[in-house]
Amino acid sequence: MNKALLNIDYTVDFIADDGALTCGKPGQEIEDRIVSITQEFINQGDYVVFAIDLHTKDDPFHPETKLFPPHNIKNTKGRHLYGKLNDVYQKAQQEQKNIYWMDKTRYSAFAGTDLEIKLRERNINEVHLIGVCTDICILHTAVDAYNKGFKIVIHSSAVASFNPTGHDWALNHFKHSIGATVL
Ligand code: ZN
Repeated sequence: MNKALLNIDYTVDFIADDGALTCGKPGQEIEDRIVSITQEFINQGDYVVFAIDLHTKDDPFHPETKLFPPHNIKNTKGRHLYGKLNDVYQKAQQEQKNIYWMDKTRYSAFAGTDLEIKLRERNINEVHLIGVCTDICILHTAVDAYNKGFKIVIHSSAVASFNPTGHDWALNHFKHSIGATVL
């Protein structure tokens, strides 16, 4: 079975204390797990996708403009991977490892991207999800993966949200409604 790691939105804006739309502490607390799982997949040669939110400021056509403060704006530091994950990414890129930086503009990593094509052409049928937020981008990506027939693994020690109720609800939903393995 071929598997891929979907590393979702672990950026400065979503994690740092001064990030534009930060998860804060819960996001920072999973840094070591995010890094070690990512490193493990890279070392194994498995496909690692960095699915990263991309916005342009005050886009009148984007639904999030009305919902959230501006975040992950093109060409800003807010879009850089947070902390040690950025080092891991830079090194993997230099060493031409099996990684893929993928801009996304919606919660789901499948919405308006070539993610599904990339996975299918590699015969990948199992996706592992880590990052933030458990109840927003992780949730929407997991639901799309479910509808497309992928096996789903959620690493509960490497997902986080600013909303503890939403986080718990989503983990329960992954387990009981979309048949995900929650590690
Ligand atoms: Zn966004």
